[in-house]
Parts: sequence; structure tokens; C-alpha cells
Amino acid sequence: MKNSRNLRDYTPEELEALFAERGLPAYRGRQIFKWLARPFVYSFSQMTDLPKDLREKLAQEFSLALPEVTKEEISADGTRKLALLLEDEEIIECVIIPEEDHYTLCVSSQVGCAMGCAFCLTARMGFRRNLKPHEITGQVLRAKEILEKEGLSEEKPLRNLVFMGMGEPLANYDNVLKALKILLHPGGFNFSGRRVTVSTVGLIPQMERLGRDIRVKLAISLHAADNETRSRLMPINKRYPLPELIAACRRYPLPKGWRITFEYVLLAGVNDRVDDAKRLAALLRGIPAKINLIPFNEHPLLPFRCPSEEQILRFQEILLAAGYVTTIRKSRGRDISAACGQLASRLAA
Ligand code: SF4
Repeated sequence: MKNSRNLRDYTPEELEALFAERGLPAYRGRQIFKWLARPFVYSFSQMTDLPKDLREKLAQEFSLALPEVTKEEISADGTRKLALLLEDEEIIECVIIPEEDHYTLCVSSQVGCAMGCAFCLTARMGFRRNLKPHEITGQVLRAKEILEKEGLSEEKPLRNLVFMGMGEPLANYDNVLKALKILLHPGGFNFSGRRVTVSTVGLIPQMERLGRDIRVKLAISLHAADNETRSRLMPINKRYPLPELIAACRRYPLPKGWRITFEYVLLAGVNDRVDDAKRLAALLRGIPAKINLIPFNEHPLLPFRCPSEEQILRFQEILLAAGYVTTIRKSRGRDISAACGQLASRLAA
């Protein structure tokens, strides 16, 4: 019978408490936590600095299961999309993106998504379930394993994480927070909060909790500079309208020198006009902001078009002239549907 409790779901503090309950010293919890952050560790028998009887007892009670990589696609630009099989046969995807001196991993936080954004393929899947903490951290481990196996991590480490894959991370708040605590802990994965970005459509109460609970970068999927257009593109805007979202961004407890990233997918004739750019510049005035423009990745199932390059550059110029750091996201992995908003278990089909 499979053990239902996965030890990878525990933060170091919880592991220490678990061991304390059993009359074992706290440092055993820290030892195990360290093992669990290493790639290629699948069994308690590998944890050679733990007493054998403890390893055996743990193996009877806990699982160390990880999502299994069932498919890997590599784009011409080096982007890799992994399909991962979960214990209940659901499939999620994550994307390894090569940058100049490091890799970034785009992780999923849910199977499918309930947010229904009009320009997103994942939305078409609907919502299936939340990911557990180990299914989130497991994506990081599997990506590390692949990079290590191929000797790629020596030249470039996997250093950045973006929660921009399938799902709305803040709709799975407790599990995402736990995964973040595990990933940032110096006794294990040791990611820097400056290099981990959580993206949200703007679930205001959870954004407020995140600001209090942990220091990671925040990205807002904005995609429109007026309330009406945003409601058409993103149903969540009816629950948390744009003015309230912007007010929440102004209140967000940003560490000194940090900026909120605003993601803005450019859709021809919908939100890409000069007036839209001017409205966006005015809307974000006073917020330490970085704007990331995402030229839309066209797809036969989605009823939008990508603006012309000229239009995209004009949009960017207006924001630059208004003083905003504004980047145009390079489309990565377009040939393998790994680009933004295109993760939808196509590999599973
Ligand atoms: S864009 Fe993000 S939040 Fe919106 S439907 Fe797609 S996965 Fe969900």
C-alpha cells in the first residue's frame, strides 16, 4: 500500500516538530530536509547519515514520491518543456528556460485553472485540482536532475523560479506558501526570494497575506489598463476590479529597491493602442513598477491576434518615455507550445 503522507510536504519546522513528537532530536529533521532538496534522492536508504532503524521506520510511514517526467520537448532556442505525471494520473507541465548565466524554471501550481482568462489555453482545461507542496517542489527537483544529467548545471545553475505555469498560484495559497518556504530555506534548496516570482491575476486578500507571510517577488497579470477591457479578458476583474487591485499594489509591502512586475499581453485591436499605453502609464504612476509586455502567441483555439512589431515597439516607447522599465518578453519555446499561456497538457494528448 502506498503511504499517503509525503515527507516532501513538510517544512523544516514541521519536520523538527514531527521528530520532537517521537522523542528524536531536532537536527534529524534538518538532516532529512537537506536530503530532500537534493536531486536523485528517492529512498530513505540513501540517507546514509541517519540510523538504519530510523530510515526503516520512516519508510513504513512516509512516501518520498515525486512527479515522474513522462515527456520532454526541447525547442530550437533551448527551452525545455517537461510533462510530469502525478500519482493520480493527472499531468502538469513546467518549462526550463535558458538565460544568459542561469536557468529559470516556470512552475505550475494547479492542474488546470479556474480563472478563465480569455487569451489563455490552460483556461480551456478548466480547473482539476490544486498541487500539493511536493508536486511543486518536485518540478524543481526534476528540472535539476535533467540539467545535472546532461552536465548543463555546471555552466549555468537553475537559479530563478517563476510561478507562471498552469494555475493561479494564490488560489492554492497554503500549498504554494509551503512550497515557497521549502524552496527558500537555506538548509535545503536555498533559493533567494529575489529570484522567485509569484504571479497572480490579483486575488487581493491572498496578495495581502503573501506580503505578510514571505518575501518573494510579485507579478500582476494586468493585461488591460481600463476596468471594462480587463473584465472582458479576465473574469476575476468582476470580483476584484482594477481600481481595487491597483490600490492593493500601492499598499503592498515591497522591500526597498524591489518593483512589482506588471504582465501585459498585447492583443491586436484589444489593448494595444496608443491610448491604452497612456492609460497604463497613468494607472501605475507612483508604484515601483516594471512592465513586461508579452506579444500574444497566436493559437488556433484562441480568438486573438498578435499586434505588428511596429505597434508593439510604439506601445513600449510610450511607457519608456513615461519613465517605466519596460521589457518585451522574448517568446521562448514557441515551437513546442511552451510559450506563455500555452501550457495545457498537450503532451498528454
Ligand atoms: S492566464 Fe494564468 S490565471 Fe489566467 S487562466 Fe491562464 S493559467 Fe489561469
